[in-house]
Amino acid sequence: MQFIREKLRHPLVVRRLRVGAVHDVVPSIRRVTLTGEELAGFTSLGPGDHLKVFLPDPATGVLSTPIVTPDGALQRPDDAVVIQRDFTPREYRPAGNGRAELDVDFVLHGDAGPASAWASRAQVGDELAIGGPKGSKLPPPGIDRLILVADETALPSATRWIRLVGDDVAVTALLGVADATVEDYFEDDVAARADIEWLPRTDGPGLVEDALRSLGPIGERTYVAMAGEAGSLVPLRRYLRRELGLPADQVAATGYWRQGVVNLDHHAPIDPTDPD
Ligand SMILES: Cc1cc2nc3c(=O)[nH]c(=O)nc-3n(C[C@H](O)[C@H](O)[C@H](O)COP(=O)(O)OP(=O)(O)OC[C@H]3O[C@@H](n4cnc5c(N)ncnc54)[C@H](O)[C@@H]3O)c2cc1C
Repeated sequence: MQFIREKLRHPLVVRRLRVGAVHDVVPSIRRVTLTGEELAGFTSLGPGDHLKVFLPDPATGVLSTPIVTPDGALQRPDDAVVIQRDFTPREYRPAGNGRAELDVDFVLHGDAGPASAWASRAQVGDELAIGGPKGSKLPPPGIDRLILVADETALPSATRWIRLVGDDVAVTALLGVADATVEDYFEDDVAARADIEWLPRTDGPGLVEDALRSLGPIGERTYVAMAGEAGSLVPLRRYLRRELGLPADQVAATGYWRQGVVNLDHHAPIDPTDPD
């Protein structure tokens, strides 16, 4: 079968928002709930959608954002530092009787990165800006099984996958995380909907690859979506594409960050020696 994921475009909008709530879902993942009138019209329909999150300059505290040009591109100001990172809009709640809210989950990995440093100090009332998502790629129709591979940074996206696919799709999630404290991350509806294997790195290296191999043959109507540290995805993708011979459209592997790289460009191939 062909795995066709419909792409929807959204008008690109930069929104200045305020932190409405901060909550540690697990010790290493902080949920920041953003609010503000500019959230009106926010749209995100795909499990792998991403926002550009614009952060205040840690040196000055000034939050600079690009402007959206008439042809829908982001243009940076010449005279200001724009600091941006990619994040998943985990859950959007439009204004009903209350205010509109957008949850973004930040992995706290220390002060080396401005996003992690900002999130670790975030307080109600702080300002943050977001751009996008400028498009959404929907899950492929016609699948009967979904295999998700994720680390902490891709748990928001995994949540969206699990909630977006139909009840007739069996979901297996192989989640390679730092330690067992992350295992409380999902809400009950998500945990109940998927066959989840938590694979703490404290239990040893290579557990995700072992778990993927132990699933055995991958069916023709199974879709595989993997995201996380780019280098860790390389052997998994090689196994699926080269050893099992799965076609490119059956496997999505997206590097969300790379050890030692600041602000990884997720459009870059995870394995430059094998860009397909
Ligand atoms: C499409 C997409 C969606 C994403 N969604 C999310 C999300 O919802 N939540 C989320 O937390 N992240 C998400 N990420 C990953 C996030 O963009 C990166 O982790 C980003 O580098 C964090 O920025 P930073 O300023 O904290 O660190 P940077 O300034 O980019 O990096 C500084 C240093 O920290 C290291 N580093 C970066 N991230 C991590 C990490 N998670 N653990 C350990 N070391 C790290 C880098 O290798 C580098 O050495 C997503 C990425 C993409 C491409």
